[in-house]
Amino acid sequence: MPIPPRVLTVAGSDSGGGAGIQADLKTMLALGVHGMSVLTAVTAQNSRGVQGAWELPAEAVRAQYRSVVDDIGVQAVKTGMLASAELVRTVAELLAGTPVPVVVDPVGISKHGDALLAASALDAVRTKLLPVATVATPNLDEVAWLTGLRVTSEEGMRRAADEVLAFGPRWALIKGGHLEGDAVDLLTDGTEEHWLRAPRHDNRHTHGTGCTLASAIASGLAKGRTVPEAVTEAKDYVTGAIAAGFPLGGGIGPVDHGW
Ligand code: PLP
Repeated sequence: MPIPPRVLTVAGSDSGGGAGIQADLKTMLALGVHGMSVLTAVTAQNSRGVQGAWELPAEAVRAQYRSVVDDIGVQAVKTGMLASAELVRTVAELLAGTPVPVVVDPVGISKHGDALLAASALDAVRTKLLPVATVATPNLDEVAWLTGLRVTSEEGMRRAADEVLAFGPRWALIKGGHLEGDAVDLLTDGTEEHWLRAPRHDNRHTHGTGCTLASAIASGLAKGRTVPEAVTEAKDYVTGAIAAGFPLGGGIGPVDHGW
């Protein structure tokens, strides 16, 4: 029996099933890898927003990680909602020195404007988490939070990438989806530059986009793809998932992981 590549998500739960670890595990299933999870927080959440959030103790995060890594083994890691400065530091310590690729989605606030990370965690994200990242995947709101830059153009994305790379990730993927026009992302390691473009789908049901993209990148890296290959394939996958996003509940529905 062939053993599939194993990918670990370190992230929060979305009870509505559209984002967080639920999106991560669905993405991993769709892309043919074995998904595993270290839960950092539980949210009471639906298509209308986040109604409540509870973080787990750092000890519970450490224990889940050790259980998975010591027995099953991991070929790539993705981080999402980390809730607090303490959990950011805990996860960064666990991942420091890991030989496998780490995709960091620096999750700050949800599309509904709900905080998924304490404001006091900014320093830990910059100085502890980003340095352990193989790829960091901020959107433009997260870029503003991390660097203070308000990006309004593709040239601005280039400057943002330089500032994000200065925090230490090997690659920065600046997601320009919040700009007008095509959905344009910039992937760079400071030397190579890859502009990834996809037509904008006029679909408001995009809940879970960031989680899905980061998980798809981690899945590709676990399969042995290079970073540019993994990001290109992940962008194609998430573009299809957005195009097939569907209404659920009274608010913003999820992207479709199984399109
Ligand atoms: N809920 C959880 C647990 C998440 O991890 C995230 C994003 O990472 C979200 C919600 C936000 O999802 P979106 O902004 O796509 O609605």
